[in-house]
Amino acid sequence: MAIPFSRPSIGEEEIEEVVACLRSGWITSGPRTARFEQEFAAAVGAAHAIAVSSATAGLHLAFLALDLRPGDEVITTPMTWPATLNTIVQAGGQPVLVDIEPGTLNLDAELIERKLSKKTRAIVPVHFAGQPCDMDAITAIASSRHLRVIEDAAHAVGTEYRGRKIGSIGDAAVFSFHPIKNITTGEGGMITTADADLARRLRLLRFHGVERDAWKAYGGAQLPFYDVSLPGLKYNLTDLQAAIGIHQLRKLDGFIARREELACRYDRALAEVPELRPLGRVPYSCRHAHHLYVVRLDREGLSIDREAFMAAVQAAGVGLGLHFTAAHQLSYYRQRLGNLEAELPVATDESRRIFSLPLYPAMSDGDVDTVVDVLTRTVQAHRRSPGSRPA
Ligand SMILES: *Cc1c(COP(=O)(O)O)cnc(C)c1O
Repeated sequence: MAIPFSRPSIGEEEIEEVVACLRSGWITSGPRTARFEQEFAAAVGAAHAIAVSSATAGLHLAFLALDLRPGDEVITTPMTWPATLNTIVQAGGQPVLVDIEPGTLNLDAELIERKLSKKTRAIVPVHFAGQPCDMDAITAIASSRHLRVIEDAAHAVGTEYRGRKIGSIGDAAVFSFHPIKNITTGEGGMITTADADLARRLRLLRFHGVERDAWKAYGGAQLPFYDVSLPGLKYNLTDLQAAIGIHQLRKLDGFIARREELACRYDRALAEVPELRPLGRVPYSCRHAHHLYVVRLDREGLSIDREAFMAAVQAAGVGLGLHFTAAHQLSYYRQRLGNLEAELPVATDESRRIFSLPLYPAMSDGDVDTVVDVLTRTVQAHRRSPGSRPA
């Protein structure tokens, strides 16, 4: 009975809505996408929500909307999926990496100041694993220097920071609906913003730079003439995807409640396994979306390395994830940014210890117990005797 790393929770509501969409005669962006945008904006307390084909697409559009000039710098974290940095580069910017906090693996806001330059244009926090970054500290730095804050909120659908929902704080926040994320549309994403002008530009960039809702012309209500005011891309979400998203969004609170129960069960059980250290909690009030359950391996206490440990756990039928290999360790960024290991000591060290355990609403309590059992047996089989521990 293998336990996969991830599995989406899709119910009859999603299936029936997709079927209704298929039967309706309109399957690309249209009324269901518009409804999903309205309901998502209301759910996170944002004035505007722009549905896109992925968070990667959303980040690309948000960075394009900054109108970066060559050499402009964007501050972000190395502990993220490559999309965060790749889209900064694609929009013409230079990523500047700031080290992370050892407990939460979130961007360390106290270290931002020393990486600022005359070329800095934006700060991009990533709410790692579903815990919010220190947004008061980040927005204070940004507003004193006229920088934009673009949040990579791929892990943070449902996250709250000091009573405020992620999606209502930065200049823009970008969410992901990839199947492993807290809610899914198969593939998809959403950008939220309070800025009406930014929202208008994002909508233009999302669809060829063409200002017009094609679906409103369906049935002959509008003439098919068009104009292009910006060289846009094609990053729209389809109604087939929005049909899934509308129902996933309604289930979000229940999904997070179940994720929290499972995470607490891991916390209690792993307290007995000192070789596996879960993440720490942020010191301020928050709602943790429990997107990932990441642990750090005490490599020094074991006779095998992290890669062999993960292989042994997977061979025993438990799927694992890796979030993330620090960006400065990836070939392209090592070449582009140089060797940053000494400048980013926490990310460098954590990147070699971490892996992610299965965590999703479809898991049973017994599944958590099975995962912990496999982890415990793997630790026991490879524990160094105290005498053989390296000095
Ligand atoms: C998943 C993820 C993305 C990309 O999301 P897609 O919807 O797959 O494009 C970006 N940033 C982070 C931190 C992610 O985890």
